[in-house]
Amino acid sequence: MQSNGTIRIAVQRSGRLSEGSLDLLKNMGLQFETYQNRLFTRCRNESLDILFLRDDDIPEYVQNGTADLGIVGSNLLDESGAKVERMLSLDFGFCTLAIAVPEQSNYKSIADLSGKKIATSYPQTLKRYLADNKVDAEVIVLKGCVEIAPALQVADAICDLVSTGSTLRTNRLKVLEVVSKSQATLICTPNRSGGKKELIDRLLLRANGVLEAGAFKYIMFNLPEKRLKDAKVLVPGCDSPTVIPLADPQMVAVHSVVEEERFWEVVEKIKGCGGSGILVSPIEKFIR
Ligand code: ATP
Ligand code: ZN
Repeated sequence: MQSNGTIRIAVQRSGRLSEGSLDLLKNMGLQFETYQNRLFTRCRNESLDILFLRDDDIPEYVQNGTADLGIVGSNLLDESGAKVERMLSLDFGFCTLAIAVPEQSNYKSIADLSGKKIATSYPQTLKRYLADNKVDAEVIVLKGCVEIAPALQVADAICDLVSTGSTLRTNRLKVLEVVSKSQATLICTPNRSGGKKELIDRLLLRANGVLEAGAFKYIMFNLPEKRLKDAKVLVPGCDSPTVIPLADPQMVAVHSVVEEERFWEVVEKIKGCGGSGILVSPIEKFIR
């Protein structure tokens, strides 16, 4: 398949990262249809194809330049060792690669697994972790259903991805150690050719804008004019908040942005400054 200057972005075809990946691309302003069983789709408004692949293949495709960009869990990047550029952590697909043992076992720490068997689909990452912790355990490689290995007496422990922990509980396992934390990551090929660079850079800017928007809220409130100095410290915005006079000369309206993480703390402090009529709305895109 020749690319003819068209950018290719690889996303997971069907799985935990598919929905988040397509949502991101749509929020980046890309217009496309998705059909079941299609392996790629062409964007209507940009010179861009979306490839639908198994997530395991994405690091390799991006490394060799078959795809220019890709969305994949950082757990797979750590495991594959693919030489790709990690451009952005995407704030979805959160999970933890953890070592888990049977609930009833007496293992207290990773050191207790010396001489034991650990089943995993992430042998490279696990071997590195064991070596770093000077633990000599046998690594059993399984492609899937790792969580039943202890019950089948194939292994004493497992090293697998965990999000809520419900799969572990169902299989009467508990986390012993966290090996690494993962989330969906936007990756880029190291073989960026000149003609494509401009569109890739534009797409990266847009992806950043979508992520920044999710991390902020737009906030508006009324405030006694004499407390404006305090409020400016609380909601500095990008450069400075917008301040609008009100009919009552002793009051002003303040418009700004606030980090989602600090939101409640800031609202409480605004109230403490005599703020009222606090309105908050989501931001669709945010370009600094
Ligand atoms: P594929 O058919 O594409 O190979 P898969 O079965 O390998 O699919 P999924 O189970 O859909 O893949 O997981 C894809 C990615 O989702 C993982 O690599 C990881 O980054 C992320 N993820 C988030 N939560 C979990 C979880 N609880 N278990 C497994 N993966 C998770
Ligand atoms: Zn996979």
